[in-house]
Amino acid sequence: MQSSWSIDDAEELYGVKRWGAGYFSIGENGNIQLAPNHRYPDVTIDMKDVVDEILAEGIQLPAVIRFHDILRSQVEILNETFQQAIDNADYNGKYIGVFPIKVNQMREVVEEIIDAGEPYNYGLEAGSKPELMAVMAYNENPNALTILNGYKDEDYLTLALLGRHLQRKMIIVIEKYSELEMLIPLARKLNVEPMIGLRSKMMVKSAGKWASSSGDRAKFGLSITEILNIIERLKSEDMLHCAKLLHFHIGSQLSDIRKIKEAVTEGARLYAKLVQMGVPLEYLDIGGGLGIDYDGTSSTTDSSRNYSTEEYVADVVYGVKQICDLEEVPHPNLVSESGRAITAHHSCVVTNIVGEISPTGTQFDISAEDGEHILVANMRELVNAEEIHPQERYNDAASFKASAYEAFKLGILSLPEMAKLDTMYWQILADIHQSLDRDSFVFQELAELEDMLASQYLANMSIFQSAADTWAIGQVLPIVPISRLNEKPQVRCSMVDITCDSDGKLSKYIEGTEISENIPMHTLKKGDNYVVGMFLTGAYQDVMGDMHNLFGRLTEVHVYAHDDEPGDFYIEEVVPGTSAEKVLTTMQYNTDYMAKVVKKSIDRQVRKGNIAPREGVRWTDFYEQCLAGSTYLKV
Ligand SMILES: *Cc1c(COP(=O)(O)O)cnc(C)c1O
Repeated sequence: MQSSWSIDDAEELYGVKRWGAGYFSIGENGNIQLAPNHRYPDVTIDMKDVVDEILAEGIQLPAVIRFHDILRSQVEILNETFQQAIDNADYNGKYIGVFPIKVNQMREVVEEIIDAGEPYNYGLEAGSKPELMAVMAYNENPNALTILNGYKDEDYLTLALLGRHLQRKMIIVIEKYSELEMLIPLARKLNVEPMIGLRSKMMVKSAGKWASSSGDRAKFGLSITEILNIIERLKSEDMLHCAKLLHFHIGSQLSDIRKIKEAVTEGARLYAKLVQMGVPLEYLDIGGGLGIDYDGTSSTTDSSRNYSTEEYVADVVYGVKQICDLEEVPHPNLVSESGRAITAHHSCVVTNIVGEISPTGTQFDISAEDGEHILVANMRELVNAEEIHPQERYNDAASFKASAYEAFKLGILSLPEMAKLDTMYWQILADIHQSLDRDSFVFQELAELEDMLASQYLANMSIFQSAADTWAIGQVLPIVPISRLNEKPQVRCSMVDITCDSDGKLSKYIEGTEISENIPMHTLKKGDNYVVGMFLTGAYQDVMGDMHNLFGRLTEVHVYAHDDEPGDFYIEEVVPGTSAEKVLTTMQYNTDYMAKVVKKSIDRQVRKGNIAPREGVRWTDFYEQCLAGSTYLKV
């Protein structure tokens, strides 16, 4: 069995290359391998080397690993793909993109993106006041754009106008007519010429999870009537020249290229008509939505996309050009607000499996005893009874188990008898499952044995902190052991987290080109650290987590590729995860007070002679150490 398994089978099963976007693959040694820099595909890093170094430095799992080279590569690829398409199409405008920081506001991420984007004048987008304050401080490039979306109050607008004083290209995107009413007097008072954008509510109905981001009932954006009213208003204020940008965003993770084409057509047509009316628009901002193929199926499922980045970019550039040429208006500069596509690949969560919950995992001695109940004897007859038809054997076992439960409730069966019955029942099921011929038809109930017998692997993490969308919207994220991929995975299992919440589990796995409720993983060996990676967590998942059960933020490890270093990488920085103390403080606890109360209790027992004095000191110290320690399991 073992020898017939190769890394090609592992690739087939976990689909690493299909979702890996050229960055991830399985190495000859059976470890996940990555080539983080698109310009140097020969510089490869072994994930296990990275994890081993993390552990050697005494860092506990779980951890977020950030591959900064992937982040930079994604910025370069997007900008260069646009540049290439613009050259090929003889398009007269420029591409001048922005990164929407809501997708990942981590300072290190934003800094890296700004740095990698500098040659392209790549800017930032903000959607709230705190985000605006962050982008003001981090996007100092006077040639890059700062796009300001979201609902705004006077402070938000004032900050944006301050940005204009600082010679920044800050574009205030009007989401509601009332924002313009607020902006006009403010701009006059502060004597600043604002750059104004108009966000259009689109007629195209997008598909998928974010379908409600477009259409008449969309939460954001202006109807055509409102846009025309705004233009009249700007004209009457002699401010029409401030209207620089037309914006739309029809939703995130757009899985179908046809919706994108439709939106581009609608947006470009609107742009052209407004320009013909004398609105001096310079930019057309097509929003975000560039999808990620999380499940590796290249399809229109919610977790995939049926197009490549090249195709997306070409559809935008050629689509806008065609309409502008027909309408005889200048080609606008193109802005996009891709967030997910920039950040998803660069980070992953690595964690260890700390236990297994298996229905067949614990066994009770099942040997026959004098005077045992007939139900126990009956069940024993089914053990090793391969001669009985599987369905019949299953029916009998299930029926004895049900009778046993009734008998237990009536006080007829003892606890040891119940334990025997249970042990035998699961043995029989596992035996039936093994005997089934996978390729021929099996009855529905027998087909479900796979799920019934699947183990649950206990992962040292909280999905509410690290993979919020798997719980909230059924997002699929690739989950793969980072090593042993040259070994046949023998255990079918699903993963559950360590929160005390039944929802704290992962129930969607990539298995070949299908999504399954459980997948094969490797047998856990005693004393071996089985480390699993959850990939493509760099967009939204990194920053949306909550503190359910008071599990805090993960330790972060920042990795850079470097071909002179052993293993072609080095760990540039480790940002410690949230301590128990910090999490408790956020919830308004005073941890000094808590430590004092516990110490007092210990002292009282010391005085009474129940705890020895030195032991008391050790207990006190231990409590304090735990406060300073991680919120996750120490293994
Ligand atoms: C969320 C959002 C984005 C980012 O969308 P992605 O799908 O992550 O690219 C861009 N623009 C606006 C206005 C948004 O709300």
